[in-house]
Amino acid sequence: MTNFPIDKFKNLETPFYYYDTKLLKDTLNIVKQCSEKYNFHIHYAIKANYNPKLLQIIKEYGFGVDCVSGGEIDTALNNGFKADKIMFAGVGKTDKEINSALQSNIFCFNVESIPELMNINELAEKQGKVANIAVRINPEVNAHTHQYISTGLKENKFGINMEFIPAFVKTALTLPNINLCGIHFHIGSQITETEPFEKLCSRINEILGIITNLGAKITIIDVGGGLGIDYNNPKQNSIPDFEGYFKIFHDHLKIEEGQEIHFEPGRSIVGQCGTLISRVLYVKEGSEKKFIIIDAGMNDLIRPALYQAHHHIENLTADNSMIDDIYDVVGPVCESSDCFSNDERLPISHRRDLIAIYSAGAYGEVMSSTYNCRDLSKSILDYEI
Ligand SMILES: *Cc1c(COP(=O)(O)O)cnc(C)c1O
Repeated sequence: MTNFPIDKFKNLETPFYYYDTKLLKDTLNIVKQCSEKYNFHIHYAIKANYNPKLLQIIKEYGFGVDCVSGGEIDTALNNGFKADKIMFAGVGKTDKEINSALQSNIFCFNVESIPELMNINELAEKQGKVANIAVRINPEVNAHTHQYISTGLKENKFGINMEFIPAFVKTALTLPNINLCGIHFHIGSQITETEPFEKLCSRINEILGIITNLGAKITIIDVGGGLGIDYNNPKQNSIPDFEGYFKIFHDHLKIEEGQEIHFEPGRSIVGQCGTLISRVLYVKEGSEKKFIIIDAGMNDLIRPALYQAHHHIENLTADNSMIDDIYDVVGPVCESSDCFSNDERLPISHRRDLIAIYSAGAYGEVMSSTYNCRDLSKSILDYEI
């Protein structure tokens, strides 16, 4: 768990993201250990956090990267990750992005439709290359997560539905500049139950049978990311149960000699190492509610506004023995959705107190914006102060 240098924070301009690189390294060590035990391949989902200083640390563990845009591929390469471990997913890849990925000789394209497949074939032909592709399939497994981060259902825009597998595979096998070598899944994010992953495994076993019968030779089984973190108890549960997570796939997937299992974790790697630190601007008493107005807003951390997410909040400088009060913790942005928490129980709080919003390492800084002409979020790492 993160110990904050509160005295040092007192001299700093807020808000900022504070990253605990020790926790990040502890997490990465566990991911490495547990995945190597089963010979699993890890591709960090770089969209969760591409702060260059964190990438420098993650890179040292030898993982590949899962990218969802040409910009992410550039970012991964510029930060020293190897092209031959890059997966490229996304429903809407442009010609420019595909051409550039082909030029870089990335590991594999995760293809989400037949028109995209045809296009990659055409562009690969022009470059005289054969593209490795994995077909992204909707396994119709409910991840029991927020609708905006649920991606494995029939109605989602991602992947192809089960009934289109034969058409896709038959087409792929006729295309000379396509090497269909993988199947790809990603059923959603912030998944906290084991059942969706178990269901995913049985679906994969079924699909492997179907695709092999259609004459394709599958060597890459990419099960995506999605392992959740504990937003309610970040201090007690600062590292997700990777051991248990990987074991599900080891126990349930029926793979053959020469088949590799790949993972694309994002949130579970970086989520708990980041905290958004801000200051109380004002404590305001409304007629029905008390508000703590802080200097961080939805432009710094959009998850509460976008996904109704709740992050654990603490007042770092209040006298914690002071009787609790109930507050709405809100930001300064001119939107009613700019609210970090309703009815949050906190010690009696005052102007200039420091507020910590936990578990902000994933989909935090990367989603920040300058909305309301506010400054873009800054970040500080533990070893820098
Ligand atoms: C976002 C994404 C991931 C990472 O998801 P997490 O929930 O952060 O682990 C992995 N694969 C794909 C294709 C994604 O879009």
